[in-house]
Amino acid sequence: MEEQKTNHVSYHPLDSVEEVEEFYQSIKRERLTHKLSASRPYCYWTIETYDKANGIRGGGGLGVLAADMRRVAEQISVPFVLVTPFYPWESHQKMQNMEQIDYHEERHYRDYGFNYVDKVQIKTATGGVELDVIEKQLGSTRFLCITEPNFGELYSGESGSDHRLYQEVSLGFGGYQALKMVGLRPAVIQLNEVATFFAAVARLDELVSSGMDFYEAVVYTRKHTLYTNHTLVQAAEATFRYSQFEQYVFPNIKSVAVKRWLSDKFTNGSIRLSTPTVEIAELRSGVSKLHARVANYRDINGAKIKFKSVTNGIHMRTWVLPEIMEYYHQNGILDRFDLPTSRGFEDAVNKISAEDIRKLKQIGRQRLNDILHRRTDQYGSPIHIPEDAFLFDFKRRFVDYKRPTLPFNDPDRLAKILQDNNAHYILAGRVHMGDANMFGKLMNTLHLIDSHPVLRERVHYLPDYDEELGLGLSLGANSSINTPIVGLEACGTSWMKDIANMGLLISTHDGGVADMPSDNYLTVDGKTEEQETENLYKQMEVAAKTWRYDEELELWIRKELLAYLDICSGTRMMRDYLNYLF
Ligand SMILES: *Cc1c(COP(=O)(O)O)cnc(C)c1O
Repeated sequence: MEEQKTNHVSYHPLDSVEEVEEFYQSIKRERLTHKLSASRPYCYWTIETYDKANGIRGGGGLGVLAADMRRVAEQISVPFVLVTPFYPWESHQKMQNMEQIDYHEERHYRDYGFNYVDKVQIKTATGGVELDVIEKQLGSTRFLCITEPNFGELYSGESGSDHRLYQEVSLGFGGYQALKMVGLRPAVIQLNEVATFFAAVARLDELVSSGMDFYEAVVYTRKHTLYTNHTLVQAAEATFRYSQFEQYVFPNIKSVAVKRWLSDKFTNGSIRLSTPTVEIAELRSGVSKLHARVANYRDINGAKIKFKSVTNGIHMRTWVLPEIMEYYHQNGILDRFDLPTSRGFEDAVNKISAEDIRKLKQIGRQRLNDILHRRTDQYGSPIHIPEDAFLFDFKRRFVDYKRPTLPFNDPDRLAKILQDNNAHYILAGRVHMGDANMFGKLMNTLHLIDSHPVLRERVHYLPDYDEELGLGLSLGANSSINTPIVGLEACGTSWMKDIANMGLLISTHDGGVADMPSDNYLTVDGKTEEQETENLYKQMEVAAKTWRYDEELELWIRKELLAYLDICSGTRMMRDYLNYLF
């Protein structure tokens, strides 16, 4: 398989101490450069990273977020280390004659410019495993990865399985040893979800076994650890058994006090990692305002956990058409940090004309078609979206709550909308391995499309949804559909890619979209799924019509950008994290 570089945009890191200081000043009147340095960086732990250009493929939003955090840090020269596994295998899907074929590809870190550092050892009750430590420096940031030939794929095995625990233990304890090995001390540790919990344990254990009083060490670790939660319901989290900890975890802990502390977190012989995580991390964040408010987590005493909201953002230079970025910069919409300009932002956005939008989206459509030529649909054939056709897209992991099949509830209605507006519809997704329910729904939808003469011409399913497709569709679609069941999306970032690229968002009021009032985009609401479906169809008609009238188009695109461009900005996200951390 050929490799496509999605990170074709080059960064312009701030190149003098003054510039970096100016950025930090813009965050807060405080000298942050004193708190973060090359040897005391911001350390970000994640089990998933989505950065194909660097050889690491993720599964979804969690990984995209991690990759974007590093890219933003590189762009604005924040000393930053991303500690993550390098998976030697990745899974792919393709379709032939409407049959899905799963296949696996091997990845070698040397092909992606990583350097081998040395080995670290993870202990188990019956022996040990050696992990390779590899690294790659990119500006002020670096990837620090652990890997070994049997490490497997991302999310291989059941959650709660021995293999998952082994991967998580390797990332936490192995990653922490790797950090020491390359001579770094973490200024702060951010835990991207609980799968990275063992990094905090490794730190606590190091402090205690080097002589610090246990309670002092807990206080110290707590103060410098941020836990970022992406899940709404604690009950959905996997549990591990005590015997699994005896096998994989405890052998890696030197301090008896730390072992005892961790043992106390089991109830009825099992543990959810969020229970000790909220104890070891004083700083806790959710990924949108709504999510931070509704995430229902309890500590071991049953008290509700409070989360600070730091809404996700995207690395604009990765996800926005370079011509649009240039337009934003030249017209005083974004400053050089990719934040909305502090003066004149509103006026500048209100000057965006329909002509500019159409011109820029046309370039985006060409980029999309370039990408589509390399991909195939459900029949195994490449597709091309005509330049003058309107394009809707739905691009997401195929999980139930995101409702990928909602627009197919009334196939004739959908067909009529597409036909009346010379519109096409691209559905891009990935069914999670082993999700038989969603796989069945996908297959039913594909058969439905196949049996309908209009849908067969105008609806295209693209398997193996990845960064390249995510980017291409954001650039080239006119309107995107985002209809999670309200209350279930933590944030979502694909809708940000769509808005930042001047697309019309059709969405339910959920996740990060709900950071702003619902009159800023084409809202899908309703008390029942029938009402929501009806409103979805209405908004699809509105979107197609909007595109035909200059004034309407200007109105909606300006409204979206005024409301959401700041939220979309990854620099805004980094600023919010730095503000929270320091
Ligand atoms: C942007 C992106 C995501 C994020 O998806 P959400 O559904 O918005 O959370 C996931 N996967 C890929 C490949 C992406 O590019």
